Amino acid sequence: MKRRYPSWGRYPRVEQEVVRVGWRCDPFPGDALAGKTALPRGNGRSYGDSCLNDGGVLIDARGLDRFIAFDPATGILRCEAGVLLADILALTVPRGWFIPATPGTQLATVGGAIANDVHGKAHHRDGTFGRHVRRFELLRSDGTRLVCSPTEHPDWYRATIGGLGLTGLILWAELALKPIANPYIAAESIRCEGLDAFFDVSAESDQDYEYTVAWIDCTARGPSLGRGLFARGNHAPEGVTNPPRPPSRSFTFPVELPVSLVNGLTLHAFNRLCYNRQREPRTQSLVHYAPFFYPLDALLEWNRIYGPRGFFQYQCVLPGADGRTAVRELLERIAASREGSFLAVLKIFGDPESPGLLSFPCAGVTLAVDFPNRGQPTLALMESLDGVVRAAGGRLYPAKDARMCGEDFRRAYPAWEQLEALRDPAISSSFWKRMTR
Ligand SMILES: Cc1cc2nc3c(=O)[nH]c(=O)nc-3n(C[C@H](O)[C@H](O)[C@H](O)COP(=O)(O)OP(=O)(O)OC[C@H]3O[C@@H](n4cnc5c(N)ncnc54)[C@H](O)[C@@H]3O)c2cc1C
Repeated sequence: MKRRYPSWGRYPRVEQEVVRVGWRCDPFPGDALAGKTALPRGNGRSYGDSCLNDGGVLIDARGLDRFIAFDPATGILRCEAGVLLADILALTVPRGWFIPATPGTQLATVGGAIANDVHGKAHHRDGTFGRHVRRFELLRSDGTRLVCSPTEHPDWYRATIGGLGLTGLILWAELALKPIANPYIAAESIRCEGLDAFFDVSAESDQDYEYTVAWIDCTARGPSLGRGLFARGNHAPEGVTNPPRPPSRSFTFPVELPVSLVNGLTLHAFNRLCYNRQREPRTQSLVHYAPFFYPLDALLEWNRIYGPRGFFQYQCVLPGADGRTAVRELLERIAASREGSFLAVLKIFGDPESPGLLSFPCAGVTLAVDFPNRGQPTLALMESLDGVVRAAGGRLYPAKDARMCGEDFRRAYPAWEQLEALRDPAISSSFWKRMTR
Protein backbone atom coordinates (compact mmCIF):
# COMPACT_ATOMS: atom_id res chain seq x y z
CA MET A 1 0.00 0.00 0.00
CA LYS A 2 1.41 3.46 -0.87
CA ARG A 3 0.69 6.05 1.82
CA ARG A 4 2.53 9.17 2.83
CA TYR A 5 3.36 8.42 6.48
CA PRO A 6 5.44 11.57 6.97
CA SER A 7 7.65 12.18 9.97
CA TRP A 8 6.59 14.81 12.49
CA GLY A 9 8.72 17.55 10.93
CA ARG A 10 7.20 16.69 7.49
CA TYR A 11 10.69 16.84 6.03
CA PRO A 12 12.05 15.15 4.01
CA ARG A 13 9.24 13.89 1.79
CA VAL A 14 9.86 10.33 0.67
CA GLU A 15 8.30 7.52 -1.33
CA GLN A 16 7.76 4.36 0.66
CA GLU A 17 5.44 1.37 0.74
CA VAL A 18 3.57 0.56 3.94
CA VAL A 19 2.46 -2.78 5.33
CA ARG A 20 0.51 -3.13 8.54
CA VAL A 21 1.11 -5.76 11.19
CA GLY A 22 -0.97 -6.65 14.18
CA TRP A 23 -3.58 -9.04 15.37
CA ARG A 24 -3.78 -12.04 13.03
CA CYS A 25 -1.16 -10.61 10.63
CA ASP A 26 2.19 -12.13 9.85
CA PRO A 27 4.32 -10.05 12.25
CA PHE A 28 7.34 -9.75 9.97
CA PRO A 29 5.97 -9.33 6.48
CA GLY A 30 9.00 -10.72 4.69
CA ASP A 31 7.08 -11.62 1.53
CA ALA A 32 5.95 -8.04 1.01
CA LEU A 33 9.51 -6.74 0.87
CA ALA A 34 10.41 -8.01 -2.61
CA GLY A 35 14.09 -7.32 -2.04
CA LYS A 36 13.53 -3.90 -0.45
CA THR A 37 14.48 -3.02 3.11
CA ALA A 38 11.84 -2.54 5.81
CA LEU A 39 11.63 -0.27 8.86
CA PRO A 40 9.30 -0.66 11.85
CA ARG A 41 7.15 2.41 12.43
CA GLY A 42 5.40 3.50 15.62
CA ASN A 43 3.26 6.64 15.57
CA GLY A 44 5.56 8.85 13.46
CA ARG A 45 6.39 11.29 16.27
CA SER A 46 10.07 11.38 15.32
CA TYR A 47 10.82 14.68 13.65
CA GLY A 48 13.32 13.76 10.97
CA ASP A 49 14.09 10.74 8.82
CA SER A 50 14.81 8.06 11.45
CA CYS A 51 11.17 6.89 11.02
CA LEU A 52 11.31 7.06 7.20
CA ASN A 53 12.53 4.54 4.65
CA ASP A 54 12.80 6.18 1.24
CA GLY A 55 12.45 3.60 -1.54
CA GLY A 56 11.69 0.87 1.01
CA VAL A 57 8.84 -0.43 3.16
CA LEU A 58 7.49 0.76 6.50
CA ILE A 59 6.08 -1.84 8.87
CA ASP A 60 3.26 0.02 10.61
CA ALA A 61 3.30 -1.57 14.07
CA ARG A 62 0.38 0.41 15.56
CA GLY A 63 -1.77 -2.74 15.22
CA LEU A 64 0.33 -4.37 17.96
CA ASP A 65 -1.89 -2.59 20.46
CA ARG A 66 -2.89 -5.09 23.12
CA PHE A 67 -2.17 -5.06 26.83
CA ILE A 68 -0.84 -8.44 27.97
CA ALA A 69 -0.51 -8.19 31.76
CA PHE A 70 -0.51 -5.58 34.51
CA ASP A 71 0.15 -6.15 38.19
CA PRO A 72 -1.25 -3.21 40.18
CA ALA A 73 0.68 -4.42 43.26
CA THR A 74 4.12 -4.06 41.62
CA GLY A 75 3.50 -1.70 38.68
CA ILE A 76 4.93 -4.19 36.17
CA LEU A 77 3.18 -3.84 32.81
CA ARG A 78 3.53 -6.02 29.74
CA CYS A 79 2.05 -4.75 26.49
CA GLU A 80 2.55 -4.93 22.76
CA ALA A 81 4.90 -2.45 21.16
CA GLY A 82 2.28 -0.43 19.27
CA VAL A 83 0.50 0.65 22.47
CA LEU A 84 0.59 4.43 22.97
CA LEU A 85 1.99 5.93 26.16
CA ALA A 86 -1.39 7.70 26.45
CA ASP A 87 -3.16 4.32 26.60
CA ILE A 88 -0.78 3.09 29.29
CA LEU A 89 -1.41 6.17 31.42
CA ALA A 90 -5.18 5.86 30.96
CA LEU A 91 -4.93 2.31 32.36
CA THR A 92 -2.37 2.77 35.10
CA VAL A 93 -2.79 6.29 36.55
CA PRO A 94 -6.17 5.46 38.15
CA ARG A 95 -4.42 2.44 39.69
CA GLY A 96 -1.56 4.56 41.09
CA TRP A 97 1.26 4.06 38.57
CA PHE A 98 3.09 6.39 36.16
CA ILE A 99 5.66 6.06 33.36
CA PRO A 100 9.01 7.03 34.93
CA ALA A 101 10.64 8.53 31.82
CA THR A 102 8.12 10.06 29.48
CA PRO A 103 8.79 12.33 26.49
CA GLY A 104 6.87 15.55 25.79
CA THR A 105 4.17 13.66 23.89
CA GLN A 106 2.03 10.78 25.10
CA LEU A 107 1.27 9.91 21.48
CA ALA A 108 4.48 7.90 21.05
CA THR A 109 4.33 4.10 21.11
CA VAL A 110 6.24 1.78 23.42
CA GLY A 111 8.28 0.49 20.43
CA GLY A 112 9.17 4.05 19.38
CA ALA A 113 10.06 5.02 22.95
CA ILE A 114 12.44 2.06 23.20
CA ALA A 115 13.98 2.54 19.75
CA ASN A 116 14.87 6.18 20.52
CA ASP A 117 15.47 5.55 24.24
CA VAL A 118 13.44 8.68 24.87
CA HIS A 119 13.95 11.03 27.80
CA GLY A 120 11.84 13.59 29.60
CA LYS A 121 11.67 16.09 32.42
CA ALA A 122 12.81 13.47 34.97
CA HIS A 123 16.07 12.60 33.26
CA HIS A 124 18.20 13.92 36.14
CA ARG A 125 16.45 11.41 38.45
CA ASP A 126 15.13 8.53 36.41
CA GLY A 127 17.28 8.56 33.27
CA THR A 128 15.88 7.36 29.97
CA PHE A 129 12.90 5.16 29.06
CA GLY A 130 15.17 2.19 28.44
CA ARG A 131 16.22 2.04 32.09
CA HIS A 132 12.66 1.01 32.96
CA VAL A 133 12.33 -1.67 30.27
CA ARG A 134 12.75 -5.04 31.98
CA ARG A 135 12.53 -7.15 28.83
CA PHE A 136 11.10 -7.23 25.34
CA GLU A 137 10.71 -9.67 22.46
CA LEU A 138 12.49 -8.94 19.21
CA LEU A 139 11.46 -10.54 15.92
CA ARG A 140 14.15 -10.72 13.24
CA SER A 141 13.40 -10.95 9.54
CA ASP A 142 14.60 -14.59 9.43
CA GLY A 143 11.86 -15.47 11.93
CA THR A 144 14.13 -15.68 14.98
CA ARG A 145 12.48 -14.45 18.18
CA LEU A 146 14.71 -13.20 20.99
CA VAL A 147 13.53 -12.31 24.48
CA CYS A 148 16.01 -9.65 25.57
CA SER A 149 16.77 -8.22 29.01
CA PRO A 150 19.92 -7.09 30.84
CA THR A 151 20.67 -10.81 31.39
CA GLU A 152 19.05 -12.54 28.36
CA HIS A 153 20.66 -11.66 25.02
CA PRO A 154 22.15 -8.57 26.68
CA ASP A 155 23.91 -7.42 23.48
CA TRP A 156 20.59 -7.29 21.64
CA TYR A 157 19.01 -5.55 24.62
CA ARG A 158 21.62 -2.78 24.55
CA ALA A 159 21.57 -2.49 20.77
CA THR A 160 17.76 -2.31 20.52
CA ILE A 161 17.32 0.37 23.21
CA GLY A 162 18.14 3.51 21.25
CA GLY A 163 18.73 1.22 18.24
CA LEU A 164 16.50 3.25 15.88
CA GLY A 165 14.39 0.22 14.95
CA LEU A 166 17.30 -1.39 13.13
CA THR A 167 17.74 -4.63 15.09
CA GLY A 168 14.28 -6.11 14.41
CA LEU A 169 10.61 -5.63 15.17
CA ILE A 170 9.86 -5.26 18.90
CA LEU A 171 6.69 -7.25 19.54
CA TRP A 172 6.06 -6.57 23.22
CA ALA A 173 7.84 -5.05 26.21
CA GLU A 174 7.67 -5.28 29.97
CA LEU A 175 7.96 -1.95 31.80
CA ALA A 176 8.50 -1.06 35.45
CA LEU A 177 6.23 1.88 36.37
CA LYS A 178 6.58 4.22 39.33
CA PRO A 179 4.03 4.66 42.11
CA ILE A 180 1.96 7.85 42.42
CA ALA A 181 -0.76 8.89 44.82
CA ASN A 182 -3.01 10.67 42.30
CA PRO A 183 -2.94 12.17 38.78
CA TYR A 184 -1.74 15.61 39.91
CA ILE A 185 1.53 17.50 39.87
CA ALA A 186 2.49 20.16 42.39
CA ALA A 187 4.07 22.54 39.89
CA GLU A 188 6.05 25.77 40.07
CA SER A 189 6.92 28.17 37.29
CA ILE A 190 9.89 30.47 37.83
CA ARG A 191 10.68 33.45 35.65
CA CYS A 192 14.36 33.40 34.68
CA GLU A 193 15.68 36.67 33.32
CA GLY A 194 18.63 35.14 31.52
CA LEU A 195 20.79 32.08 31.03
CA ASP A 196 22.64 32.36 34.36
CA ALA A 197 19.32 32.34 36.18
CA PHE A 198 18.37 29.15 34.32
CA PHE A 199 21.55 27.39 35.45
CA ASP A 200 21.11 28.63 39.05
CA VAL A 201 17.47 27.53 39.30
CA SER A 202 18.32 24.20 37.68
CA ALA A 203 21.10 23.51 40.15
CA GLU A 204 18.85 24.42 43.05
CA SER A 205 15.96 22.26 41.76
CA ASP A 206 17.59 18.96 40.80
CA GLN A 207 17.74 17.69 44.37
CA ASP A 208 14.13 18.37 45.38
CA TYR A 209 12.15 18.16 42.15
CA GLU A 210 11.44 15.05 40.09
CA TYR A 211 10.65 17.10 37.00
CA THR A 212 12.48 20.11 35.58
CA VAL A 213 12.57 21.84 32.20
CA ALA A 214 12.66 25.41 30.90
CA TRP A 215 10.94 27.03 27.97
CA ILE A 216 13.13 29.84 26.66
CA ASP A 217 12.62 32.84 24.42
CA CYS A 218 15.07 32.08 21.62
CA THR A 219 14.76 35.62 20.20
CA ALA A 220 16.07 37.37 23.34
CA ARG A 221 19.57 38.86 23.16
CA GLY A 222 22.11 40.68 25.32
CA PRO A 223 21.47 40.39 29.07
CA SER A 224 18.10 38.73 28.35
CA LEU A 225 19.72 35.92 26.34
CA GLY A 226 18.18 32.62 27.47
CA ARG A 227 15.35 34.24 29.45
CA GLY A 228 12.38 32.00 29.99
CA LEU A 229 10.06 30.16 32.33
CA PHE A 230 11.47 27.31 34.37
CA ALA A 231 8.94 24.57 35.20
CA ARG A 232 9.52 22.17 38.05
CA GLY A 233 7.26 19.79 39.88
CA ASN A 234 6.63 16.68 41.91
CA HIS A 235 3.80 14.19 42.00
CA ALA A 236 1.30 15.50 44.51
CA PRO A 237 1.07 13.57 47.79
CA GLU A 238 -2.09 11.89 49.02
CA GLY A 239 -4.92 14.00 50.39
CA VAL A 240 -5.56 16.46 47.54
CA THR A 241 -8.74 18.23 48.61
CA ASN A 242 -9.43 20.51 45.66
CA PRO A 243 -8.35 18.55 42.59
CA PRO A 244 -7.98 20.51 39.34
CA ARG A 245 -10.33 19.61 36.51
CA PRO A 246 -8.97 17.01 34.07
CA PRO A 247 -8.02 18.61 30.73
CA SER A 248 -10.72 19.07 28.14
CA ARG A 249 -10.43 17.17 24.88
CA SER A 250 -7.71 18.02 22.34
CA PHE A 251 -8.35 20.12 19.25
CA THR A 252 -6.95 19.33 15.82
CA PHE A 253 -5.21 22.00 13.73
CA PRO A 254 -7.62 21.81 10.81
CA VAL A 255 -5.56 22.33 7.63
CA GLU A 256 -2.06 22.38 6.26
CA LEU A 257 -1.33 26.05 5.72
CA PRO A 258 0.10 27.14 2.35
CA VAL A 259 2.89 29.00 4.18
CA SER A 260 4.45 28.76 7.63
CA LEU A 261 2.68 30.72 10.37
CA VAL A 262 6.05 31.08 12.06
CA ASN A 263 7.93 33.93 10.43
CA GLY A 264 9.98 37.00 11.33
CA LEU A 265 6.83 38.91 12.27
CA THR A 266 5.18 36.30 14.47
CA LEU A 267 8.38 34.94 16.02
CA HIS A 268 9.15 37.89 18.30
CA ALA A 269 5.52 38.48 19.17
CA PHE A 270 4.96 34.81 20.13
CA ASN A 271 8.06 34.69 22.29
CA ARG A 272 7.43 38.01 24.04
CA LEU A 273 3.86 36.97 24.74
CA CYS A 274 4.90 33.59 26.16
CA TYR A 275 7.56 35.12 28.40
CA ASN A 276 5.29 37.91 29.64
CA ARG A 277 2.32 35.69 30.35
CA GLN A 278 3.86 35.30 33.80
CA ARG A 279 4.63 38.58 35.60
CA GLU A 280 5.30 37.13 39.04
CA PRO A 281 8.81 35.78 39.76
CA ARG A 282 7.29 32.45 40.88
CA THR A 283 3.87 30.80 40.68
CA GLN A 284 2.64 27.58 42.25
CA SER A 285 -0.26 25.41 41.13
CA LEU A 286 -1.70 21.94 41.31
CA VAL A 287 -2.18 20.63 37.77
CA HIS A 288 -3.32 17.46 36.07
CA TYR A 289 -0.40 15.46 34.68
CA ALA A 290 -1.48 15.94 31.03
CA PRO A 291 -0.98 19.71 30.66
CA PHE A 292 2.21 19.48 32.75
CA PHE A 293 3.90 16.77 30.66
CA TYR A 294 2.16 17.05 27.31
CA PRO A 295 1.06 20.64 26.63
CA LEU A 296 1.65 20.24 22.89
CA ASP A 297 -0.71 17.26 22.65
CA ALA A 298 -3.63 19.63 23.37
CA LEU A 299 -3.45 20.76 19.72
CA LEU A 300 -3.28 17.70 17.49
CA GLU A 301 -1.41 18.04 14.19
CA TRP A 302 0.11 21.36 15.28
CA ASN A 303 3.00 20.58 12.92
CA ARG A 304 0.75 21.82 10.09
CA ILE A 305 1.38 25.42 11.15
CA TYR A 306 4.80 25.19 9.50
CA GLY A 307 3.26 24.85 6.04
CA PRO A 308 4.21 22.48 3.23
CA ARG A 309 7.99 22.80 3.66
CA GLY A 310 7.83 21.44 7.18
CA PHE A 311 10.28 22.20 9.97
CA PHE A 312 13.39 20.95 11.72
CA GLN A 313 14.01 20.38 15.36
CA TYR A 314 17.60 20.89 16.40
CA GLN A 315 18.34 19.07 19.66
CA CYS A 316 21.85 18.71 21.03
CA VAL A 317 23.45 17.75 24.31
CA LEU A 318 26.57 19.57 25.47
CA PRO A 319 28.48 17.66 28.14
CA GLY A 320 30.38 18.92 31.16
CA ALA A 321 31.32 22.42 32.25
CA ASP A 322 31.98 23.63 28.67
CA GLY A 323 28.32 23.06 27.91
CA ARG A 324 27.42 26.31 29.60
CA THR A 325 29.61 28.40 27.32
CA ALA A 326 28.57 26.45 24.24
CA VAL A 327 24.86 26.86 24.92
CA ARG A 328 25.36 30.62 25.22
CA GLU A 329 27.10 30.62 21.86
CA LEU A 330 24.28 28.58 20.28
CA LEU A 331 21.62 30.93 21.61
CA GLU A 332 23.55 33.99 20.40
CA ARG A 333 23.78 32.54 16.90
CA ILE A 334 20.09 31.59 16.88
CA ALA A 335 18.92 35.00 18.12
CA ALA A 336 21.18 36.83 15.63
CA SER A 337 19.86 34.70 12.76
CA ARG A 338 16.22 35.70 13.44
CA GLU A 339 15.33 32.04 12.79
CA GLY A 340 13.84 29.85 15.50
CA SER A 341 10.27 29.51 16.70
CA PHE A 342 8.13 29.58 19.80
CA LEU A 343 9.45 26.19 20.85
CA ALA A 344 12.86 26.27 22.48
CA VAL A 345 13.61 24.15 25.50
CA LEU A 346 16.59 23.82 27.87
CA LYS A 347 17.16 21.06 30.40
CA ILE A 348 20.02 19.69 32.46
CA PHE A 349 20.47 15.95 31.94
CA GLY A 350 21.71 14.04 34.98
CA ASP A 351 24.14 11.20 35.63
CA PRO A 352 21.90 8.12 35.25
CA GLU A 353 23.60 6.03 32.61
CA SER A 354 21.64 5.35 29.44
CA PRO A 355 21.36 1.62 28.72
CA GLY A 356 21.45 1.78 24.92
CA LEU A 357 24.51 1.59 22.67
CA LEU A 358 23.29 4.66 20.80
CA SER A 359 21.26 6.43 23.49
CA PHE A 360 21.39 10.19 23.05
CA PRO A 361 21.36 11.59 26.62
CA CYS A 362 24.51 12.06 28.70
CA ALA A 363 25.22 14.34 31.67
CA GLY A 364 25.15 17.91 30.43
CA VAL A 365 22.78 20.54 29.10
CA THR A 366 20.36 19.84 26.27
CA LEU A 367 18.87 22.48 23.99
CA ALA A 368 15.99 21.80 21.58
CA VAL A 369 14.78 24.45 19.12
CA ASP A 370 12.27 24.20 16.25
CA PHE A 371 13.14 25.95 13.00
CA PRO A 372 10.65 26.42 10.15
CA ASN A 373 12.23 25.10 6.97
CA ARG A 374 13.21 28.19 4.99
CA GLY A 375 15.68 26.25 2.87
CA GLN A 376 19.30 27.36 2.57
CA PRO A 377 19.37 30.00 5.36
CA THR A 378 17.97 27.47 7.86
CA LEU A 379 20.41 24.76 6.77
CA ALA A 380 23.32 27.21 6.94
CA LEU A 381 22.36 28.26 10.47
CA MET A 382 22.18 24.65 11.65
CA GLU A 383 25.56 23.90 10.07
CA SER A 384 27.02 26.79 12.02
CA LEU A 385 25.42 25.39 15.21
CA ASP A 386 26.97 22.01 14.40
CA GLY A 387 30.40 23.64 14.62
CA VAL A 388 29.71 24.79 18.19
CA VAL A 389 28.33 21.38 19.21
CA ARG A 390 31.31 19.61 17.64
CA ALA A 391 33.82 21.87 19.42
CA ALA A 392 32.08 21.25 22.76
CA GLY A 393 32.18 17.45 22.27
CA GLY A 394 28.39 17.33 22.07
CA ARG A 395 26.00 15.44 19.84
CA LEU A 396 22.63 15.69 18.11
CA TYR A 397 19.54 13.57 18.79
CA PRO A 398 18.81 11.18 15.87
CA ALA A 399 15.07 11.15 16.71
CA LYS A 400 14.93 14.83 15.82
CA ASP A 401 17.42 14.96 12.97
CA ALA A 402 16.95 15.21 9.21
CA ARG A 403 20.23 16.76 8.11
CA MET A 404 23.34 16.20 10.28
CA CYS A 405 26.37 14.94 8.38
CA GLY A 406 27.44 11.32 8.69
CA GLU A 407 30.88 12.29 9.94
CA ASP A 408 29.45 14.15 12.95
CA PHE A 409 27.15 11.23 13.72
CA ARG A 410 29.90 8.62 13.55
CA ARG A 411 32.23 10.73 15.72
CA ALA A 412 29.56 11.39 18.34
CA TYR A 413 28.20 7.83 18.38
CA PRO A 414 31.31 5.62 18.11
CA ALA A 415 29.24 2.51 18.96
CA TRP A 416 27.43 2.84 15.62
CA GLU A 417 29.58 0.05 14.19
CA GLN A 418 28.42 -2.32 16.94
CA LEU A 419 24.83 -1.48 16.04
CA GLU A 420 25.60 -2.00 12.36
CA ALA A 421 26.95 -5.48 13.18
CA LEU A 422 23.66 -6.38 14.93
CA ARG A 423 21.37 -4.63 12.45
CA ASP A 424 18.82 -6.89 10.80
CA PRO A 425 20.00 -7.20 7.18
CA ALA A 426 16.42 -6.67 5.96
CA ILE A 427 16.02 -3.43 7.95
CA SER A 428 17.26 0.08 7.21
CA SER A 429 16.04 3.67 7.31
CA SER A 430 16.59 6.92 5.45
CA PHE A 431 18.52 8.16 8.49
CA TRP A 432 20.77 5.11 8.70
CA LYS A 433 21.61 5.17 4.99
CA ARG A 434 22.42 8.87 5.24
CA MET A 435 24.66 8.36 8.30
CA THR A 436 26.59 5.34 7.11
CA ARG A 437 27.21 5.96 3.42
C1 LIG B 1 5.45 17.05 20.66
C2 LIG B 1 6.61 16.10 20.77
C3 LIG B 1 7.39 16.12 21.91
C4 LIG B 1 8.47 15.22 22.03
N1 LIG B 1 9.21 15.27 23.17
C5 LIG B 1 10.24 14.41 23.32
C6 LIG B 1 11.00 14.40 24.51
O1 LIG B 1 10.75 15.18 25.45
N2 LIG B 1 12.01 13.51 24.62
C7 LIG B 1 12.29 12.61 23.63
O2 LIG B 1 13.21 11.80 23.81
N3 LIG B 1 11.58 12.60 22.48
C8 LIG B 1 10.57 13.48 22.32
N4 LIG B 1 9.84 13.46 21.16
C9 LIG B 1 10.18 12.49 20.12
C10 LIG B 1 9.40 11.17 20.28
O3 LIG B 1 9.16 10.88 21.62
C11 LIG B 1 10.25 10.04 19.71
O4 LIG B 1 10.61 10.31 18.39
C12 LIG B 1 9.53 8.68 19.78
O5 LIG B 1 10.47 7.69 19.47
C13 LIG B 1 8.36 8.61 18.81
O6 LIG B 1 7.73 7.36 18.94
P1 LIG B 1 6.78 6.80 17.79
O7 LIG B 1 5.98 5.69 18.37
O8 LIG B 1 6.04 7.91 17.15
O9 LIG B 1 7.84 6.15 16.82
P2 LIG B 1 8.25 6.54 15.33
O10 LIG B 1 8.60 7.98 15.29
O11 LIG B 1 7.25 6.04 14.37
O12 LIG B 1 9.58 5.67 15.19
C14 LIG B 1 10.69 6.00 15.98
C15 LIG B 1 11.71 4.87 15.90
O13 LIG B 1 11.17 3.73 16.54
C16 LIG B 1 11.29 2.59 15.71
N5 LIG B 1 10.16 1.72 16.06
C17 LIG B 1 8.87 2.07 16.22
N6 LIG B 1 8.14 0.98 16.56
C18 LIG B 1 8.99 -0.07 16.62
C19 LIG B 1 8.85 -1.48 16.89
N7 LIG B 1 7.68 -2.04 17.20
N8 LIG B 1 9.96 -2.23 16.84
C20 LIG B 1 11.18 -1.70 16.54
N9 LIG B 1 11.36 -0.40 16.28
C21 LIG B 1 10.29 0.41 16.31
C22 LIG B 1 11.23 3.16 14.30
O14 LIG B 1 11.85 2.29 13.37
C23 LIG B 1 12.02 4.45 14.46
O15 LIG B 1 13.39 4.20 14.36
C24 LIG B 1 8.76 14.32 21.00
C25 LIG B 1 7.97 14.30 19.84
C26 LIG B 1 6.90 15.18 19.73
C27 LIG B 1 6.07 15.16 18.47
